[in-house]
Amino acid sequence: MKSYDIIVIGFGKAGKTLAGKMAAIGKKVALVEQNAANYGGTCINIGCIPTKTLIQAAENNLTFEQAMTLKETVTTRLRNKNQMVLENSGTDLINAHAKFISNKVIEVSAGDETEHLTAETIIINTGAVSNVFPIPGLLESKNVVDSTGIQNLPEQPKRLGIIGGGNIGLEFASLYARLGSQVTVFENSPVILGRYEEVAAKLAQQYLEEDGVSFVLGSQVEAVANRGEEVVVTESGKEYVFDTVMYAMGRKPATEGLGLENTDIVVTDRGAVQVDDYCETTVPGVYAVGDVNGGLQFTYTSLDDFRIVFGKLTDYGHYNLQSRQNVPNSLFIEPALSQVGLTEKAAQEAGLPYKANELLVANMPRAHVNNDLRGVYKVIVNTETNEILGATLFGSGSHEIINLIKMAMDNKIPYTYLKNQIFTHPTMAENLNDVFNF
Ligand SMILES: Cc1cc2nc3c(=O)[nH]c(=O)nc-3n(C[C@H](O)[C@H](O)[C@H](O)COP(=O)(O)OP(=O)(O)OC[C@H]3O[C@@H](n4cnc5c(N)ncnc54)[C@H](O)[C@@H]3O)c2cc1C
Repeated sequence: MKSYDIIVIGFGKAGKTLAGKMAAIGKKVALVEQNAANYGGTCINIGCIPTKTLIQAAENNLTFEQAMTLKETVTTRLRNKNQMVLENSGTDLINAHAKFISNKVIEVSAGDETEHLTAETIIINTGAVSNVFPIPGLLESKNVVDSTGIQNLPEQPKRLGIIGGGNIGLEFASLYARLGSQVTVFENSPVILGRYEEVAAKLAQQYLEEDGVSFVLGSQVEAVANRGEEVVVTESGKEYVFDTVMYAMGRKPATEGLGLENTDIVVTDRGAVQVDDYCETTVPGVYAVGDVNGGLQFTYTSLDDFRIVFGKLTDYGHYNLQSRQNVPNSLFIEPALSQVGLTEKAAQEAGLPYKANELLVANMPRAHVNNDLRGVYKVIVNTETNEILGATLFGSGSHEIINLIKMAMDNKIPYTYLKNQIFTHPTMAENLNDVFNF
């Protein structure tokens, strides 16, 4: 049996960063990844980077074929770079499936070859996989794909059906509509983006519809079937016909086949690996980081899990999941919709003393320069402390500016500072002066 100081299972954001850093301080590290096409993780290969490359390509008016070629170039470049950086760090990169056979022993298998590895510290970083709801015919039908399959279509579907109007579903709806497909989104809820500010959610739906997306809201998809090469979706007794259907019903922690039943690691009711505030599982020395531990599914939260575990292993700090605050998010539709902290409804429900302000993007000078007047900014502040409780920025470039507000919130900078801060001009950021001008 081969012995290491640290074994990382999965080439995700947290795991690869941890492997590299631990190897750099002289630890003997192995990283096991079952899928060489996924070296560097979900984000680089089938998540954030390819999707945003496609979205940017569509904005730049590239064709479907040009966009797909560009996406392939970008992901290949980043995958190769990630492999090189990891190998140069001195980490043993093992291309195999990993499975626990006891608390501290991992079986790695590739083809007919099997080997056992052991380490005192083991990091589970296996990510998440697409949820599949029990819709008759969904998995059995041809031309039905998930978020990975839709990135590898040989040709652009003229008619695309998307089951699920969450972040992933809406980003692909926006993308394919802009590429010229007719897109229909089936969403279970009566509204889209129900957790966002209502004013932004309504505008988002309007802009998506203007771009050519149709919505079937409050829908219950009853069945999916093929008619020749076409895919027929039945909803409320009505048939909708597509060339391709994508299902996007969320992603669940990837624990299947990991052999957790052979360990004392506890899995939560929702299928995630249970962790404490330091991402440590119920087996001391075994950690779970990234999507697999059931936290927010973002690359930057996976990276933040790395910070927590690295701090714990090296005694550098006491930062933990309790210290994490104000996690922002951006939805990359057109324009980007970004949010941090509370919505007005949440502030109201929490009984906080607050005031709210809204500013239409059409009132912002830079928006006229950009020739893009779509969107709205909305902010909520605490009337007793002057602290910022939350912000929704819907408009071009909001995915950059939201990080400024997160920093102000983390540091309890009063909203009046942003109201009076000097910003460069003409920029979208300068409009924080006005939206915080109560
Ligand atoms: C379409 C899409 C778009 C997204 N867009 C964004 C975005 O814009 N911004 C953002 O922040 N996040 C985005 N995300 C989410 C983000 O990609 C994930 O939250 C993040 O990549 C999770 O990383 P991770 O560290 O958990 O592990 P991952 O990067 O998922 O890596 C897990 C790895 O473990 C391997 N593995 C699993 N089981 C085993 C095993 N038993 N043995 C060996 N290897 C194994 C897998 O093959 C995989 O490579 C997106 C996700 C998707 C699907």
